[in-house]
Amino acid sequence: MNVWDKLHRSRVVEGVARQMASQGVAHAWLLLGPSGSGKRATALSMAAALNCETLPGVGCGVCSACSRILRRRHPDVHHILPEGPLIPVDVIREQVIPEASRSPFEGRYKVFVIEEADRMNEAAQNAILKTLEEPQADTVFILVSHFEQEVLETIRSRCRIVHLEPVSEARIIELLEEDGAPRDIAVLAARVSEGDFERAHSLAEDPNILDRRRRWVALSTRLHEPSDAFDAAAELIEDIKSAVKEREDLQKGEVAELAEAMGEGRGTAHARNALAKRHKRELRRLEEDLYGEALGGLASFYRDILALRRGGEEAVTNLDLLDRLPDWSALPIPDGALVAAVDRCLKARASFRVNANAALAIESTFLELSRLVPPPERVPG
Ligand SMILES: [Zn+2]
Repeated sequence: MNVWDKLHRSRVVEGVARQMASQGVAHAWLLLGPSGSGKRATALSMAAALNCETLPGVGCGVCSACSRILRRRHPDVHHILPEGPLIPVDVIREQVIPEASRSPFEGRYKVFVIEEADRMNEAAQNAILKTLEEPQADTVFILVSHFEQEVLETIRSRCRIVHLEPVSEARIIELLEEDGAPRDIAVLAARVSEGDFERAHSLAEDPNILDRRRRWVALSTRLHEPSDAFDAAAELIEDIKSAVKEREDLQKGEVAELAEAMGEGRGTAHARNALAKRHKRELRRLEEDLYGEALGGLASFYRDILALRRGGEEAVTNLDLLDRLPDWSALPIPDGALVAAVDRCLKARASFRVNANAALAIESTFLELSRLVPPPERVPG
């Protein structure tokens, strides 16, 4: 077993794994591919291969370095994520560039994973260019993006480019089953994740995520009148707050872990500061993702009703709600209202990228949904 086993073993991924094991690994990489093609998982496997203690160049997946890298808790592997819609130039100038000039703290390589690298604006991309041109021997940059054309040509030309391929639903199901998931969970996870291999993996591994999704989608059954919309919104917001709080508690553990690993020596204050900033970004990002999950789930539910009206049970996403869907599909609600409901959910989801007021956005969305698609029957109690 090693870190590459969990990835879909395409020719491209095998090629990356081979290059990690070779001498003179490239210092700048650009991983491209559609959502869910395994870009982030590949980046983590690369970072693990570079710093693994027991299988250097491969990544055993279980040594202390690998397991911390895979949990995103290694002091030499830095994850840069967008803040709201952008990766601001300040983050590149103040965090990435100075950090890239320091030697690794404990590993062989310092690794920077820049997710959604296309969200670096031009200033940020230009700022990082010089560092990519003259990399330290022990620094590796892994840029990750869906959109090749939005990464400046000057950056692309300095990176080794990897095109990851989308993974078919049948292949995702096969991989999840190989990994020990029961058939029904594998099918549901593959369908709900809409071809996103990484997401399907986390759904199949953690049944709580599927439960939570089902609970959030079921909020649609309670939207009889405006007051219900406010109640449902409050419940969702509370749910998300407590998930964020949970992550915050985990972060406290990580701060303690870092303090223990570093003592009071060289660079301690800097590392603590960087960690605090990373944690803040992580929480903001988690909140955005959770609202996205809830709204995406609701959108898929209204889309399923439309699919069923057209007789396409095989096009249904929420296979775990199949028993409820016929009642909804029989409602005297025009298709147009269902389309508008889907649209409303997707627009609200997009608005979280630009720092919307969460409570307000969710309340107004639920109000609109209760008007557009009132549920079939009153749920007692
Ligand atoms: Zn290892």
